[in-house]
Amino acid sequence: MSTNTKRLVVLGAAESGLGAALLGKQQGWDVFVSDGGKIKEQFKETLQQNGVAFEEGAHTVDRILDATCIVKSPGISDKVAIVKQVRGVGIEVCSEIEFGYRYKGDSKIIAITGSNGKSTTTKLTYHILKEAGYDVAMVGNIGYSFARQIAEKPCEWYVMEVSSFQLDDIHNFRPDVAVLLNITPDHLDRYDYKFENYVASKFRITQNQSKADHFIVNRDDKVMMDYLATHSIQANIIYLTMSENNLTGNEGGHINNERLHIQYDGDSVEMSIHELSIKGKHNQYNSMAAGISARIAGVRKEKIRESFASFEGLEHRLEYVATVRGVEFINDSKATNVNSVWFALESMKKPVVLILGGQDKGNDYIELMALVKEKVKAIVCMGVDNTPIHTAFGEVIETMVDTATAADAVHAAYALAENGDVVLLSPACASFDLFKNYEDRGHQFKDAVRNL
Ligand code: ADP
Repeated sequence: MSTNTKRLVVLGAAESGLGAALLGKQQGWDVFVSDGGKIKEQFKETLQQNGVAFEEGAHTVDRILDATCIVKSPGISDKVAIVKQVRGVGIEVCSEIEFGYRYKGDSKIIAITGSNGKSTTTKLTYHILKEAGYDVAMVGNIGYSFARQIAEKPCEWYVMEVSSFQLDDIHNFRPDVAVLLNITPDHLDRYDYKFENYVASKFRITQNQSKADHFIVNRDDKVMMDYLATHSIQANIIYLTMSENNLTGNEGGHINNERLHIQYDGDSVEMSIHELSIKGKHNQYNSMAAGISARIAGVRKEKIRESFASFEGLEHRLEYVATVRGVEFINDSKATNVNSVWFALESMKKPVVLILGGQDKGNDYIELMALVKEKVKAIVCMGVDNTPIHTAFGEVIETMVDTATAADAVHAAYALAENGDVVLLSPACASFDLFKNYEDRGHQFKDAVRNL
């Protein structure tokens, strides 16, 4: 093979791999896509239409090791043999957002990460910019990949949901605005079971930022504040907090007397938390983060307030389903860890029948104990192995029922609930023991409620 062609190998052909392949092709790279598993039919067609060579079900090692640059899908762990080989010979490996970054031109990026709230905050920020008439796209784990958007429809602004895996292989990626919402243990299997590795990965979002860039962080998050106390950050840090006393400078977001305040550049946006369309404390953080990002982007105050009120939220995140004979049903199927269940319970105003369970990622349920004691009247377990839930709550919750389908869980919860109660599906666990994914779990839950 000629030595002066730029050879791009893309490992893994899901949304981000496809995007990198299309952008690479467009930018004159010789592109080869290699996926150890099966590639979706629709993706294969797109690759063929664009004249991109690919293989599936195996990796042709020689061809991969001949690459000038390798884009690795965020889903592929460093422990996989082919990745070890690639790293062993020192070929440049970058993530798809890094690859896209090289071709972004003068456009600007608002990049959002955190353990929880990424999708909600990304969508809300996008909604605000879109409503304000910006030329903006929502990219990353939500919607098109960044690279694909650049290849197919470049915009002036990108609001990007970024996972820690995407940050693991960045080199120059530098968002104009970076948001780090919170850090709680997650995905530790990919970080040698060391929480500090996961924390460091999240902070990579700011590693290339300069003084001219903004880094929005949660002042109430101890993990983040501990990290900041021992590491220096170049970017201009802007804090979010529930308590005004925690703000040092005159910029930031805070809540006071049930009012949300966003201060930036000598100006302030203010509104009642009851006017926010999405509820709960976690969504107040998400709203402050989105609002400040939008202010930095230059959106006018009135537009931000209007967009906060008109935002529709996302499916499977504290989504109201229906009220049946006075019993309200809420679908929070996306709550796959303990922290998101904590915020869900925190926001409940009525007695709760809680549907919990699934594939447990080593949860520590103790964090939920106070809220469960205060608000939960019964627990319906929905999983193949419900032992951890019984062990955690058996002593404090008298009524606990085991189920193994969404329909059974809904019937059991409905039977236990009284007029004025709420049935909350907020499982704290992954869904793969009984469902295809969290969306499938949420849909089956909603179907069961509608069939009551
Ligand atoms: P992500 O994209 O990070 O998974 P989502 O916006 O999809 O985040 O929300 C995932 C779950 O976490 C939902 O149950 C949601 O209600 C909850 N959640 C949303 N924002 C936050 C937050 N800031 N802190 C804690 N939990 C949150």
